Amino acid sequence: MNQFRNYIEQIWQGISSTKKGMSLTWKHLWAAKNQRKVQDIRSDNYFQSNEGVFTLQYPAEQVEIPERSRYQLDNVMEDCIVCDKCVKICPVDCIEIDPIKATGLVGYASDGSPIRLYAAKFDIDMSKCCFCGLCTTVCPTECLTMTSEYDFSTFDVKDHLFHYSNLSPEEAEEKRRLYEQFVKEKEEAKLSVPPPSPSFVKEGVAEPAKPGEVIPTSEQKPKIGFKPSFKKSESVKSEQSEQSEQSELSEHVITLGKSEGLEIQVASSETGGTSEIKKPFKPVFKPSFKKPSTDKPKDE
Ligand code: SF4
Ligand code: SF4
Repeated sequence: MNQFRNYIEQIWQGISSTKKGMSLTWKHLWAAKNQRKVQDIRSDNYFQSNEGVFTLQYPAEQVEIPERSRYQLDNVMEDCIVCDKCVKICPVDCIEIDPIKATGLVGYASDGSPIRLYAAKFDIDMSKCCFCGLCTTVCPTECLTMTSEYDFSTFDVKDHLFHYSNLSPEEAEEKRRLYEQFVKEKEEAKLSVPPPSPSFVKEGVAEPAKPGEVIPTSEQKPKIGFKPSFKKSESVKSEQSEQSEQSELSEHVITLGKSEGLEIQVASSETGGTSEIKKPFKPVFKPSFKKPSTDKPKDE
């Protein structure tokens, strides 16, 4: 009896669950008439529009994306200085560069950075990219950017490998050959220069003298002697005025010396015009010591 009862209950549960599911299906089928219109993701009620069909008819219908979207990478090769920073920072190694040294300055990027390298290969594998954006933050010239292009779906995953090099394989080979030739010529030029002789080496400088340049040694260099120069006096006093000044001075010295009890000798201006002042004699104390007698006493 119980088995029959369980059997009837299970049939009823099946019918009720089918009814519930079908009512939901009919509800959405009816709501499909009121298909939700394409809405800007930035609108305030974007997540509050629950009525209608949610699936967009892509690609006929597309959701608008924010201005600062980070999707497919793009590189402006004219501004790329091939510094390799983006390769080093990429966590999944999806950027590959093959640099070629140039024999000189190639040009300048738009921000003024000098370009000294060519990129024979600059590939980005977007199928590996995790869209972290690190490569764009380290790029010194900001030539590597993330664009708002998100629809780059393909039938072959190999088509996700994007090539940005602006050199054809032939041009890259030519640049490589030119640089190798440049290095070879430089090495040959180094070997062909004879070692500098001692007489042609500048003093204190390890650099050899230029061809044809003769540098004098320290013995050959002219020595600079000291030649003192004196300025001539602008005004010369007359002989008469000098004599009168000297006589006045000697008279003044004699009167001053006599008042202090000094013996003064004054030479005439004709013989040189010099005066000498002698101090009066004063006794000077000179201590004397008796030498100890070296003779032995007679008693002994
Ligand atoms: S976005 Fe991230 S993962 Fe993609 S190439 Fe740049 S560094 Fe690599
Ligand atoms: S970081 Fe920028 S400039 Fe340097 S190689 Fe990469 S793309 Fe070029």
